[in-house]
Amino acid sequence: MTVMDTIFALASGRGRAGVAVFRLSGPQAGAALESLTGQSLPPARAARLRWLKDPETADRLDQALVLWFPGPGSFTGEDVVELQIHGGAAVSAAVARALGKLPGLRPAEAGEYARRAFANDRLDLTSAEGLGDLINAETEGQRRQALRQMDGAMERIYEGWRTQLIEALAMTEAAIDFADEDLPDDVGLRARPVVAELCAAMERELTRAPVGERLRDGLTVAILGAPNAGKSSLLNALARREAAIVSDRAGTTRDVIEVHLDLHGLPMTLLDTAGLHDTVDDIELEGIRRARARALTADFRILLLDARDWPVMPEALRDLTGPDSLLVINKTDLRAVEETAGLAVSAKTGAGIDHLIETLTARAEALMSSSEPVLITRQRHRYALEDCVRELQRFLAAGTDRDFELLAEDLRMAARALGRITGRVDVEDLLDVIFSEFCIGK
Ligand code: GDP
Ligand code: ZN
Repeated sequence: MTVMDTIFALASGRGRAGVAVFRLSGPQAGAALESLTGQSLPPARAARLRWLKDPETADRLDQALVLWFPGPGSFTGEDVVELQIHGGAAVSAAVARALGKLPGLRPAEAGEYARRAFANDRLDLTSAEGLGDLINAETEGQRRQALRQMDGAMERIYEGWRTQLIEALAMTEAAIDFADEDLPDDVGLRARPVVAELCAAMERELTRAPVGERLRDGLTVAILGAPNAGKSSLLNALARREAAIVSDRAGTTRDVIEVHLDLHGLPMTLLDTAGLHDTVDDIELEGIRRARARALTADFRILLLDARDWPVMPEALRDLTGPDSLLVINKTDLRAVEETAGLAVSAKTGAGIDHLIETLTARAEALMSSSEPVLITRQRHRYALEDCVRELQRFLAAGTDRDFELLAEDLRMAARALGRITGRVDVEDLLDVIFSEFCIGK
């Protein structure tokens, strides 16, 4: 048995607010609450008003709403205490100092609560990721997806699949272990249709992976155009209209600026790239090459042209026209162009910007349209599921003279790959359970 420290941390944000929340988790949490309040523990999960006092000097620190969540039914599975104190840096600092004086308590490290919850089987990995996503969610779409993931919807599906796989494994192993006994001949073959169906379901899910990853990260739209076409102005015009978070991509390159927009609940990242124009200058060509490379990884491209240049497009821009591009003609306040030429806007007067936003929203919705919850929200899920499918395909491709030992190994590897997603990797334990309920003759 490992003796766990009791950890504490400010669970609320650091900005100015009316209330701040401290959370304690571990075996000393209850004793800590008794020392701080000088009273016995309140009833479980019921809020009580208590004075918090310094355990050494008995100075009053703050009047708090305190909550006691005894394990194992708490968030972390350990004894948990929550202190709702008055917001304000001095109050938080005083309470943190007092907590630090208590025996067995120390400040929590990042992610430590979720890690304990995972260790105590209160959360699987997908739910822990969902929780992280929920805390970081900026849009409605992200919030809904994170909530579904946190709530264990994903875990239930993955674990359901894994259980079915291990049942198929049990049937296959039965064919090995009981080969000479009085078993129906087809017991080893019964796994095949189960595996075929599972494999098809997983393949279907893999084709939808981009939807989940996009929903989380947002659609990426690159704005390309000659220098002075008005790329930065357009970005600003869009950002002013919608809720936007601007971030320089620190560390990498300064020629790309990212703006995160919330388009009616759909996340979108806009990239402002270096100007594309015809040049022979080596350094400029390198900048253009990088901007184009980044733009090509985007889901969608806005090709921006100065209305006064219309219809002459720089060659570098002309190359990028296609179904994933939209020609936008800017500065139409300076020169009117026919609507048919492209989408006419003026970053300066705002004309046409709403129309552009509608077009982008429709585009984003088309790419993400899917009322069904998606299972794959991270690359890590996709890689593991791809590994799993590969093993199942190997299993299914085997001929009639197949070796059950090798088939069992395929299924074992497939189950492990799935287990990597939820963090539940104990194939053997589950196999024991299934075998114990497995009625071979039926
Ligand atoms: P970028 O190099 O493509 O990022 O272009 P900027 O956004 O920096 O704009 C270049 C110049 O064009 C600036 O002086 C802007 O004020 C101007 N500009 C941008 N959009 C418009 C527009 O719609 N109408 C007018 N009249 N000027 C614009
Ligand atoms: Zn610019």
